[in-house]
Amino acid sequence: MKKTLLALLLGSLITGNAAAQAPSAQTEVVWLGQSAFKITSPGGKVIVTDPWLRLNPMTPAPYKQLEKFGKIDVLLVTHAHFDHFADAPALALMYDTPIRAPGGLNQSAMTLGVLPAKLLPRINKGGTIEAAPGIKITAVRAEHSSELVWRNPATEKDETHVGGEAIGWIIELENGFRIYHAGDTAVFGDMRWIGERYKPDLALVPIGGHFTMDPVDAAWAVTELIKPRHVIPMHYGTNPLAKGTAKEFSDAMVKSPVKVQIAAPGQALSFP
Ligand SMILES: [Zn+2]
Repeated sequence: MKKTLLALLLGSLITGNAAAQAPSAQTEVVWLGQSAFKITSPGGKVIVTDPWLRLNPMTPAPYKQLEKFGKIDVLLVTHAHFDHFADAPALALMYDTPIRAPGGLNQSAMTLGVLPAKLLPRINKGGTIEAAPGIKITAVRAEHSSELVWRNPATEKDETHVGGEAIGWIIELENGFRIYHAGDTAVFGDMRWIGERYKPDLALVPIGGHFTMDPVDAAWAVTELIKPRHVIPMHYGTNPLAKGTAKEFSDAMVKSPVKVQIAAPGQALSFP
């Protein structure tokens, strides 16, 4: 604690800016399986993405206990599918944090009465907002679908509703570090535009195949289009149809200048 305070003081002396981050400030990224991540910003903000946790076979046990997150400042969902949205309503209620998701998904969730309206604000592709002090999020295109399957409590039957259009997120932290969470997606040409416009430091990309890019497509998209500094593969190892593996992705990235970080579920990876 003392060390952090000293570093902060030194940081502000050097830059002459009282609000400067400590020079040692890191971004911590923990993969929770599939497309779920817990990201802790240099300023201590907690960002959770695509929370499918309690029934996710890859999620480490401590993260299945939703109350153990302590706090969530920003809750991001890329689309309505169960393996991305499942635990979002429970987390939103528990931490009084709105779900940031495609506008059409939140609209359906609101009219169905899934959550109170204040936890379901709307945003759409191209929109950038400050979702928590110092944390900017931008909704960008993804090439996928977004049906919302909802069990009607009156009939006990599943119903399929409109869930907006699937998106990806650009997440910019207090120190300017940018993360591109691609959501579920195929390769698409505007990934080049996303790379050029937002210059992500870290990309989180699906590699499972069948429903999304496979390892070879993902490696090509990362190397030729997105061009981040680091990449973490996600969305694999949970569905027998999505056969892509981290090893196949690493092999396909051998000649790429982008640094591959294979995350073990629950392991904290730090980025300067
Ligand atoms: Zn999906």
